[in-house]
Amino acid sequence: MLIVKKFGGTSVADKERIFNVAKRCIEDYKKGNDVVVVLSAMGKQTDVLLDMAKDINPNAPKRELDMLLTTGEQTSVALMAMAMHSLGVPAVSLNAFQVAMHTSAVAGNARLKKIDKERITHELEQKKIVIVTGFQGVSKYDDYTTLGRGGSDTTAVALAATLHADACEIYTDVDGVYTADPRIVPDAKKLNEITYDEMLELASLGAGVLHNRSVEMAKKYGVQLVVRSSLNTSEGTIVKEDAKMEKMLVSGVASDKNVARIAVIGLEDKPGVAFKLFRHLANHNVNVDMILQSIGRDNTKDISFTVTEDMADVAVETVENHRDGSLKCKEVKVNKNVAKVSVVGAGMQSNPGVAAQMFEALFDANVNIQQISTSEIRVTVLIARDDTDKAMKAVHKEFDF
Ligand code: ASP
Ligand code: MG
Repeated sequence: MLIVKKFGGTSVADKERIFNVAKRCIEDYKKGNDVVVVLSAMGKQTDVLLDMAKDINPNAPKRELDMLLTTGEQTSVALMAMAMHSLGVPAVSLNAFQVAMHTSAVAGNARLKKIDKERITHELEQKKIVIVTGFQGVSKYDDYTTLGRGGSDTTAVALAATLHADACEIYTDVDGVYTADPRIVPDAKKLNEITYDEMLELASLGAGVLHNRSVEMAKKYGVQLVVRSSLNTSEGTIVKEDAKMEKMLVSGVASDKNVARIAVIGLEDKPGVAFKLFRHLANHNVNVDMILQSIGRDNTKDISFTVTEDMADVAVETVENHRDGSLKCKEVKVNKNVAKVSVVGAGMQSNPGVAAQMFEALFDANVNIQQISTSEIRVTVLIARDDTDKAMKAVHKEFDF
């Protein structure tokens, strides 16, 4: 069997944990498996590096940031290889160049294009455990890139797809995917299985267990994932195409505080306005989420939308820059004191009551809903950020997991 095992930062945070991971990998290796290990940077090292950069230059070039951040993963893979050697097992660490992992040339948010197999296959044939840096790639200009925060999961899935791995295991510091973040909702339960689609909604909604692009990729290439703890041997959660037939109406409640709402007020009420607004935003790489347009009045209308908080200023600036030209409007407002709370479940496609049930729970908890959006398997509300935990608890309790 070829197994890809990915370990997050907390799983390799110190010497003891590095050896713990090394031993777990060696166990699989000694059973005769080919083992490819993907690692994140140790502990909070990526944040530490970002702080160092900020201290030197708050507007550091993105290329240099990537150059710096890739050292985090390079440190952990090299140390892991050393740990395995000290345990008497041949291992080799490889960075994005050595593999090579080709990505787009977007510093800080690159996309994987292609992974060369030859070097990894060669090392596996030499009976080595292969330890690969997560999160990083190489652009066509031979510059290091990174895949966005949390991107090591995506590296692991991409490797599993490329190598046709028999298993892809994502090790983290929790026992699997829960019905809600256990730090916020103490009686949240671990799920045994979840579908790609549910996981995609939960990942992008801030459940935080998996990088959403990793789930997208797993779905696209049919890579079955197991999310489990590196600190114990409990079973974890399987992420796959079809979960058990006994579909749960709702499989999880998620919140996301990394959000801001932008309101563009008094836009002209004529064709092409929404197109121009969102085209300008797209041109500035602003990802837009919940969109709401008001009913037109006096030949004007309002459009509000949400973005991640770090993109709020770019979004406002983009609109402001076109106010004299193609985007005439009265006012642009931004509210950073908002959060999203969502319920997700494949079973809600055939059951109409879920939204009402969620709204009732919020009403009972005296939480005001500012905006609503839905997909086939999700209902999301935008609320005041201070209400997030209260709302999570109320909604989770309502659905009685
Ligand atoms: N080390 C990177 C980060 O902290 C990538 C990862 O952990 O997946 O975002
Ligand atoms: Mg992660």
